[in-house]
Amino acid sequence: MNGPEILVSFDPELTTFVPQERRGGPTKAVTDGASTLGHVVESLGVPLTEVGALVVDGREVAPGHVPAAGETVTVRVVPRPQRVPGAPLRFLLDVHLGTLARRLRLLGVDAAYESTDIGDPALAARSAAERRVLLSRDRGLLRRRELWAGAYVYSDRPDDQLRDVLGRFSPRLAPWTRCTACNGTLRTATKEEVADLLEGGTRGTYDVFAQCGECARVYWRGAHHDRLEAIVAQAVAEFGGPVGAQA
Ligand SMILES: [Zn+2]
Repeated sequence: MNGPEILVSFDPELTTFVPQERRGGPTKAVTDGASTLGHVVESLGVPLTEVGALVVDGREVAPGHVPAAGETVTVRVVPRPQRVPGAPLRFLLDVHLGTLARRLRLLGVDAAYESTDIGDPALAARSAAERRVLLSRDRGLLRRRELWAGAYVYSDRPDDQLRDVLGRFSPRLAPWTRCTACNGTLRTATKEEVADLLEGGTRGTYDVFAQCGECARVYWRGAHHDRLEAIVAQAVAEFGGPVGAQA
């Protein structure tokens, strides 16, 4: 590119995406005189899903702003908790985030998940069709124009991923109300209603049951419950308060 020269600096929290040579403070960037600031920021490596305010010479501008020579641009990180207007808060996770999907469902958060790789265009299209926030660690996927909304998942560890998403979006938590297998909602069920679906040992030992309205899977207070209980207790203690929670 051989056009207007601008000065760009990034919020330290965007360091993950910023090339080494641009991490220390404002650096020069040459634009083509026609591209939008949003495009320029993306071309420097930062997904717009992670960007909050774009400030030009002290004034906030839209991503469609076309930079002019000599402008000083500050790229801020998206604020937390992040509001997602326009639809109930719900998510779509890519093929690599299955554990995170199950944990979100365990907490009652609507988390659709593709267990097979349907490809970036199909994922982005589903995000748009169902107005779901796409969660991914794939920057290329997060740059797709069809996306309704998206968020980069910063860690590859499920514990940290869960804290990242809960802290960022502050979803309303409703533990034990959603099927961890298919994301359907659970209803309480009597032992008689689900008896045919249970092993003999289970039928004798447990009393508390719930059944998925979508896939009919039956839930009870079973062997893995302590581990799941710990995940729930920690999430509720840290993120379960009514303040800031969004549906
Ligand atoms: Zn289900």
